[in-house]
Amino acid sequence: MEDDFCSRETLSRPEDTANRIRGYNLMAVLRCTCAGLAVAFHFDGSRVCGYTQGVALDIVKYGHPVLRQKGKRIERVTPEIRKLADDMLETMYAAQGLGLAAQQVGQALLLTVIDVAISDRPSQLFIDGKPQDLASSMPLMLINPQILNTQGEQVGPEGCLSIPEVNADIRRAERVTVRAQTLDGQEIVFECTGLLARAAQHEIDHLNGRLFIDRMDSATRASFDGKLKKMEKETLAALPKTAKRRRSPAPRQAGLASL
Ligand SMILES: [Zn+2]
Repeated sequence: MEDDFCSRETLSRPEDTANRIRGYNLMAVLRCTCAGLAVAFHFDGSRVCGYTQGVALDIVKYGHPVLRQKGKRIERVTPEIRKLADDMLETMYAAQGLGLAAQQVGQALLLTVIDVAISDRPSQLFIDGKPQDLASSMPLMLINPQILNTQGEQVGPEGCLSIPEVNADIRRAERVTVRAQTLDGQEIVFECTGLLARAAQHEIDHLNGRLFIDRMDSATRASFDGKLKKMEKETLAALPKTAKRRRSPAPRQAGLASL
């Protein structure tokens, strides 16, 4: 499916990804003020946090137990966390995705990276109610993000880098307010709409061990049953025995109604 924030099909032209990767090495950090706090959306951490080009990591696939684990809160931004964030960004661009959560590279931590600027699906970003330039605000590298408020609803296509070849329309809030910390430890609060709101909700779901397939309607979910069972079996078969023993149950379906 075209133009989805977390699917491989998002970028139809390989040069788009290459340009994006080159682009973020050149970009500066956008700083703005919000309620007296310095707010930094990292577009490239090189100027402020010792950014070095990340390494593309393996993306874990559906069936891996880490995808069902809740992320651990990050109390301190260590060099290891910054390196992981850089590597996640590299991994996301290399896989032509628009968002990636730490669970997807095997780490149950509250850390996600998002970049929706390359998509032509509309998004808006606001700080203190003021609209921000989307392209220069990307990527977002968010630590301990939480959704504070949601408004409205949107239904649109989603996919997930951890669940290849599975795409469906998913109902999400149209507008969300998110609180998070940046890589320099600053707290930020922002509102977003459209694709960025969808991406934020998808990634924050990942950080809580929830997957977009959990939010499919029952008929759509059932239509992917065979494919998901096969993927889970293959993923588990490839895992070492110790990881299999740590497999945790899926969240209860009841929670899925709270979109
Ligand atoms: Zn995903």
